[in-house]
Amino acid sequence: MFYLSTRNEKIRKTPAEAILQGIARDGGLYMPESFEALKFPMDKLASMSAKEISAKVLELFFGDSSMFPESEDKNSAFNALVERAYGSKFAEGDDYAPLSAVDGAYVMELYHGPTCAFKDVALQILPHLIVEAKRSTKLEDEIVILTATSGDTGGAALSGFSDIDGIKIIVFYPKNGTSTVQERQMVSCEGKNTCVCAVVGNFDDAQSGVKKIFAELALPEGVQLSSANSINIGRLAPQVAYYFKTYSNLLNMNKIKMGDKVNFIVPTGNFGDILAGLFAKKMGLPVGKLVCASNENKVLTEFFESGTYNKNRAFHVTKSPSMDILISSNLERLLYIVCGAEKCAAYMKDLNTKGEYTITSEELAEIRELIDAGYADDKASYETIKSVYEKDAYLMDTHTAVAWNVYERWLAESKNEDTCVVLSTASAYKFASSVMNALDKDFDGEFDAVNKLNAYTGVKIPYGLDGIESRKVIHKTVLEKGEMLDFVGKMIAKKTW
Ligand SMILES: *Cc1c(COP(=O)(O)O)cnc(C)c1O
Repeated sequence: MFYLSTRNEKIRKTPAEAILQGIARDGGLYMPESFEALKFPMDKLASMSAKEISAKVLELFFGDSSMFPESEDKNSAFNALVERAYGSKFAEGDDYAPLSAVDGAYVMELYHGPTCAFKDVALQILPHLIVEAKRSTKLEDEIVILTATSGDTGGAALSGFSDIDGIKIIVFYPKNGTSTVQERQMVSCEGKNTCVCAVVGNFDDAQSGVKKIFAELALPEGVQLSSANSINIGRLAPQVAYYFKTYSNLLNMNKIKMGDKVNFIVPTGNFGDILAGLFAKKMGLPVGKLVCASNENKVLTEFFESGTYNKNRAFHVTKSPSMDILISSNLERLLYIVCGAEKCAAYMKDLNTKGEYTITSEELAEIRELIDAGYADDKASYETIKSVYEKDAYLMDTHTAVAWNVYERWLAESKNEDTCVVLSTASAYKFASSVMNALDKDFDGEFDAVNKLNAYTGVKIPYGLDGIESRKVIHKTVLEKGEMLDFVGKMIAKKTW
């Protein structure tokens, strides 16, 4: 299996190379050459554990001679990798995606990992894939991961990469741009190979600072930079597993028969989570519709309606900040599937130069067969949190509430009768002050909101946030945007941190 750039199919890499490189030299994203070789053994699905499903998915994507070259039995090699990565880090034991029945539908809870956001599912695995890709290709270089975060990626990446040999990680976050809980999760990270810095400014300042470092920093021999963002195929593939696991749960609960279609409603930002659902469908999972749910930054909703993607618009800071995005990087992979590399490259060029592009009506029609879309603003998502809690005693965070709100309206309009699963991407405790506001409850600061939310609902505080308030602040660096490049240069020159 080779991986091709979405912008030029002549760029072909082995799985190990694609994982190590992250993004192709031409700026494209890596895609499997064909999905034919990636068919999942559906007849075995119902009897497989969550970890076995993950290992099978990883084996299908990456199990060629470039990974574990010495190993005849790739399946057991990937099973061991998943065990190393996940161990017992998901509070629901073996299952990283337990289902809850809510009002005739299901919620897939992806937030039971160490940092209480769905990004844990992939970011606990990615470091181990990178380590294996390094070992398999005999790469001696040290890898330094640089990441700018608006909150969730930083925590999940730090947790995943913490104390992994041969890799270091530096995370930049906007000083006043994350929630207090998210900030404390990051700055209390104990890993000896981790470094966390606040940047004076907003997320874009941190992000453009990181891009500048990638472009301009002169690296010493033996060091490579890489990123933990969802453009890496090694971060996308682990997410495919939870779509299969959910289908298997529904089979085992006798809620569906093999072959029945299931719809998935996904709170979307960078388009990585929902794209994994499309990959699952191409690998043989009976997926009905994928519904893309956005917040007020509804650039995707408009794209799926009109065929025009236009990032030239006001940026809204919302109560579902992990979905506040104007450039959804992974949409490029969908364009590649539907339009091919040449047109995909042309559209991406338009996006870079003009900030917009328009696909043809045939292309839009093909996409609409796969994906529906909708959006919900803060007011609507707050109403959803309150009404679902009061009616069904089910507590959801602001991101999940965006998806639930879109789901209810989509269902009324489409009258679709297949089973529906709404993906829940964060614990309500991670956005406790917003959730308390939605429930019309008083509190004094974010940590107090966590405790009062617990007192009011009785919902258990997830282990990833337990005692968050008293975790020791280890990382205290605050930088001006202009200081980031120098700082990284100095950190890389230091042997130990
Ligand atoms: C990252 C994130 C999302 C968006 O996922 P994408 O893969 O970027 O579309 C949604 N909700 C939460 C809580 C997140 O952390």
